[in-house]
This record gives sequence, structure tokens and C-alpha cells, in this order.
Amino acid sequence: MIIVLRPDATKKQIDHIIEKVKKLGLKTMVSRGVERTIIGVIGEEDVLRVQPLEAFPGVEKVMPILKPYKLVSREFKPENSIVDVEGIKIGGKKIAIMAGPCSVESFEMLLEVAKKVKKAGAGILRGGAFKPRSSPYSFQGLGEKGLKFLMDVKKETGMKIVTEVMDTRDVKMVEKYADILQVGARNMQNFNLLKEVGLSKKPVLLKRGISATIKEFLMSAEYVLAAGNFNCILCERGIRTFEDATRFTLDLNAVPLIKQLTHLPVIVDPSHGTGKWDLVSPMSKAAIAAGADGLIIEVHPNPEEAYSDGEQSLVPYKFDAMMKELKAVAKAVGREL
Ligand code: PEP
Ligand code: MN
Repeated sequence: MIIVLRPDATKKQIDHIIEKVKKLGLKTMVSRGVERTIIGVIGEEDVLRVQPLEAFPGVEKVMPILKPYKLVSREFKPENSIVDVEGIKIGGKKIAIMAGPCSVESFEMLLEVAKKVKKAGAGILRGGAFKPRSSPYSFQGLGEKGLKFLMDVKKETGMKIVTEVMDTRDVKMVEKYADILQVGARNMQNFNLLKEVGLSKKPVLLKRGISATIKEFLMSAEYVLAAGNFNCILCERGIRTFEDATRFTLDLNAVPLIKQLTHLPVIVDPSHGTGKWDLVSPMSKAAIAAGADGLIIEVHPNPEEAYSDGEQSLVPYKFDAMMKELKAVAKAVGREL
């Protein structure tokens, strides 16, 4: 449930309410908005039935959160959350761009791509060192060696790093190198992994599972927040449908809908969502028009030779051209790129 405080509630009154709720064995999360402070209460709320919290000084009203997800819901926090990645803000007016190869293949290639996407306007470099592949015989990623390349390229270019962590046992290692921990679509319901990244101090990029409903997606984000990590970015990356002309069906309905339901930032991955490089630019425009807070795009200098996902990777000059076109779309919907 949420306790909405009066605009004139004092710190002493707020502290008193928190103390009382904690004594009942419940967890509190305080969200300070511009106009109102809200206290979210998580746990077995039945004990509160006998405690008339409305009677406490400073309380305006007490409301149940009817949705199964609590901390991620707009009811809990009405204003947008902004995730700060070492100065790059995701969820504000400026649209965040993450770009880079599907997999980290070599230091030289990563540096080349990083320099080009940075010049085109991307602030965050993507690249997988641990790859979730359908076949055990496909390239599985360079592991820690790939993470080191990412860190070296960060040192040279100043770009921030987003990279996938697939296993609870690797979280400590990956967080040494990454600025954002990516949980991939196939792990969206790996609840132990969600709990583990929820304990991290690093922001989390949670991708929607390929067959996950929006409710399931938000419940997974709830795991991350419930473990204490409020810096969670959601990513729509396409879902399985009957349509097989594209790799997945990019569910752009999800963007405005998720933004109604949650305060967390939402970004879109049109590379995986379509599986075709020539659909990436139009769907990126559509994503921004639909209200996405950012994009994550695969870029490769030589897609023909890519170790993974070449067919959906843009060559750097096409990425650059797309970025120029996206600026106009961003401006048209009151955003910046
Ligand atoms: C990726 O970003 O490279 C990736 C594997 O994405 P997803 O988990 O969405 O398939
Ligand atoms: Mn990929």
C-alpha cells in the first residue's frame, strides 16, 4: 500500500510513521516527489488493518496498490524515474543511445565501432561478452577477455558500457567492468539472477522475454527493485508472434503502455525486434515517436563477417545517417537526441 503524506508533513512526522510501519515488520520505501512525499509499504499488509494509519499526523490518505507489482508501479511513484549512468541520464528529456556490436569480437573492432558511434551521438557502448545462443556450437562470447576490451575502449573513448550478464556466478565479475548490467530476454524470468543484479549498485537493463506479457515483464522488474536496486531500465525487444517475416514482432504498444503503468524508463531494441538492418531506422523513429526514452542498436563495421546478428547490424555510416534523421523525430515529440 502507499501512504500519501500531506504537502506540509514534517520530517519528524514522516520519521514517526516509518518507525511505526517498520515495527510492524514491514518494509518502507520513501519517494519524494516535487509536490508530495509518498511512503510505499511492502510486506504482509494485513497487520496494518488494525493500525489506523490515517490517524497519524502528516498522513493525507492510505491507498492499496492494486497491481501485483508495487515498487515499479506509477501509483507508488507518480513521476518518471531517471537512471543516471555516470552522468548520462536515461528517462529525462534527452533520448539515450546505446550502440555497438552484438558480440565483442576483438579490441580493434570494438574500438573502431565505438569511435564511430560516439561521433554519431551514442553515449553508451553495447557489446556482449557472454552470449545467449540458441545453439551450443555457436560463438558463446569472449567472456572476461571481452569485458576487458570493453573497459579498455571505455578508457579510450569515455563511452559508458552496457553488457549482458547471464549467470548469477558472474555478476560480481561483470559489475567490475560494466556501467549497466544487461539481463537478456532469455533470462527475464531467471529470478535468482534478478535478485542478484538487484543487490548491485550498478543500473540494470532488463530486456522483455520473448514470450513474456507486460505484466510478467513488470513483475520481473519488481524483483530488481525489491532487492533494493531502483536503477532499472526496461527494454522492449520484440516478442514471438505467428508472424515469421521478421525475426520478432516489435511490440511498440508496450512503450506507451509501460510508461502508463510504471515510472521506470523504457528503451527499444529495433535490431533484435526486427532482425533486419533495413527496418532498424524506421522502427527507431517509430519508437521515439511512441515515447521511448532510448534505443539500443547493433552496429558492425562488416556485418557479413559478424560472429552474431550480422543481418540486423547497421554499418557505421548508416547508423550515422539514421541518427541525423532521428533528431527531427525527437524534436517533433518534444525530446532531444
Ligand atoms: C543482445 O542484446 O545481444 C541480446 C542477446 O538481446 P536479447 O536478450 O534481447 O535477445
Ligand atoms: Mn544480438
